[in-house]
Amino acid sequence: MLVVMRHGAPETSIRRVVEAIRELGYQARPMPGKQRTAIGLIGNDGKVDSGRLEALPDVLQIIHVSQPYKQVSKEWRPEPTIIELANGTVIGGNDVVLMAGPCSVESEQQILTIARLLRESGATVLRGGAFKPRTSPYAFQGMGIEGLKLLAKARAETGLAIVTEALEPDTVEVVAEYADMIQIGARNMQNYPLLRRAGRTGRPILLKRGMAATINELLLSAEYVLAEGNHQVILCERGVRGFDEHTRNLLDLTAIPVVHALSHLPIIADPSHGTGVRAKVMPMARAAVAAGADGLMIEVHPEPDRALSDGAQSLWPDQFDELVRQVAMIAEAIGRRLAPGLATALAAHGPPSDPSRGSGAVPG
Ligand code: PEP
Ligand code: MN
Repeated sequence: MLVVMRHGAPETSIRRVVEAIRELGYQARPMPGKQRTAIGLIGNDGKVDSGRLEALPDVLQIIHVSQPYKQVSKEWRPEPTIIELANGTVIGGNDVVLMAGPCSVESEQQILTIARLLRESGATVLRGGAFKPRTSPYAFQGMGIEGLKLLAKARAETGLAIVTEALEPDTVEVVAEYADMIQIGARNMQNYPLLRRAGRTGRPILLKRGMAATINELLLSAEYVLAEGNHQVILCERGVRGFDEHTRNLLDLTAIPVVHALSHLPIIADPSHGTGVRAKVMPMARAAVAAGADGLMIEVHPEPDRALSDGAQSLWPDQFDELVRQVAMIAEAIGRRLAPGLATALAAHGPPSDPSRGSGAVPG
């Protein structure tokens, strides 16, 4: 439930509403906005007597959020959520953000080589799994903390922000120490203890859609993070289980406009897992940007045929270069642009004071 205050309502009136909500046994979250100040009532509000709040001074309106998810909904917050990472990458605005990197961190040479190339191509966020959720227990499971240290090293050298997956609740904090953004993978979208713990770190969360999850379920999973007081969630469409065998998954691009209509959270697309086939990544990346994706997550490996995971869907670096060129044109055609690469930003503003700054960067 949202209590909307009259424009210019004095602080004393806002405080009275907050106190009344607390007396009713709920948490109150004042949300000052450009157009209005609203106060959110957080919790299961089915039984709240809104008459008591309506009668308070300067209360304009009570909005009952009709969706099962509350804080994630557009009714709760009409303006888009904009998330800024420590290296200046802004997600959720007009710019389309490129996140790229190998499926897994495999060695220092591999991650540094690809990070340098991706920076030149215009990506601003480096992806790479250190803790890998693998379908087979015998497959490469990731380098663990060593992998996190290598990602931090790549960030220190290139200025790219880091997104990497937290697989289990007990390793969330260590991932948060190194990562600018914590990825929750498709297999864990409904791991509620993990979502809560990741939410509590305060780091931006990249939440991937489960392979059989509805859009409402995805939004309710995001609600778990917001319910912990962490509002920085980026959703990711990465394909759902389909019945056709030509692709690994069915990349549901409809989810992008659907989410944008229901929620203020940004949504990006991952055509690498969405198709599972290298040759299909570029066309679906173009389509995702055309559909309104706020960013792309692309798997790129210096030598995909030697990759320890997901080589078949990983692009060669020169293919990623071409992808950037093509999606830039699509972005422009719909009135957006690609987020300026770090090399461009450097030319315009000079070097950052410390490229490994912020987000608890712990250089390797
Ligand atoms: C990944 O990003 O490498 C990954 C495992 O993704 P997903 O959780 O979407 O399968
Ligand atoms: Mn992968």
